[in-house]
Amino acid sequence: MADLFICLDIGGSKILGAIMNEKDEILCRVKKKTKPKLGRDAVDDRIKSVIHELMSSYGMDKKDLKAIGAGAPGVIDTKSGNVRIAPNMPWTDHPLRKIMEEEFQAPFVVGNDVNVGVLGEWKYGAARGYSNVVGIFMGTGIGGGIIIDGKLFTGSGSAGAEIGHMIINTEGPLCNCGQRGCLEAYSSKVAITRELKAGIEMGIPTVLKDVLKGKDEVIRSNDLKKAVLRGDQLATSTLRRAAYYLAAGIGNLINIFNPEIVILGGGVVEALEDEVLSTVKSNISRFAWSHMLEQTQIKAAQLKDDAVLYGARALISETLGY
Ligand SMILES: [Zn+2]
Repeated sequence: MADLFICLDIGGSKILGAIMNEKDEILCRVKKKTKPKLGRDAVDDRIKSVIHELMSSYGMDKKDLKAIGAGAPGVIDTKSGNVRIAPNMPWTDHPLRKIMEEEFQAPFVVGNDVNVGVLGEWKYGAARGYSNVVGIFMGTGIGGGIIIDGKLFTGSGSAGAEIGHMIINTEGPLCNCGQRGCLEAYSSKVAITRELKAGIEMGIPTVLKDVLKGKDEVIRSNDLKKAVLRGDQLATSTLRRAAYYLAAGIGNLINIFNPEIVILGGGVVEALEDEVLSTVKSNISRFAWSHMLEQTQIKAAQLKDDAVLYGARALISETLGY
């Protein structure tokens, strides 16, 4: 009998699933669209079908399934396995663990996807071996996770570590959360898109003019990369501005947590790692105290799209001990 684990990355647009063995090797993968608009039961069925497909395509016996781990969006009570609320998902006080444990007769653990991604980077990626870690993911929004003394910190109600909503400027631009001047309102793809559009309206020439024609369109990391690598002035200055404010956010976090390592991930960093890291590193000393900064490395995340899958495996071992 083998000990096998099923790891899930449940997102608003797709569900990634993988079978992992006890050596933490990925043996089999399945990917499916989430289709949150179909409603709660349909999404539950799609998650279940990812697990069933993984088991049937690998020829996995039910008795070999040791546990299922998952990262999912929103505020998640990791103790009960209930999703309290999730943006873009049909979930309010949704008993995800209960539903999955009834279907598969195996322990199911779930955590917030960004927290779980940081857990993955800590156990298997760029932050391996460190005890105090801050992870920041720069994508459509800004997400993060914090490891303190070798433990994932989520606060008293499992909703903490909202790094993207630290306020950088009280008079700053409006954030999606309703506050003003959050880091997310400066350094996310939504913010980058807003700045690019403002530049285009002012008549600054850019190769991104046609790309951004659609009104609600958030820029794709790859389009931003192409423009920056071509030397597009507006794209380059906008990215630098976003990375400069990111440095301010990182400086705050370094001064508060004195971490050994800060890891930066997410779509923008994956596409433009050198550009983001060099702007952050050349500005960080303005924001972080020098004696703290001396003790802190700033590095890119390693696991890319697999961070949450590996994090789900890490969540199983942290929670269940295997
Ligand atoms: Zn905010």
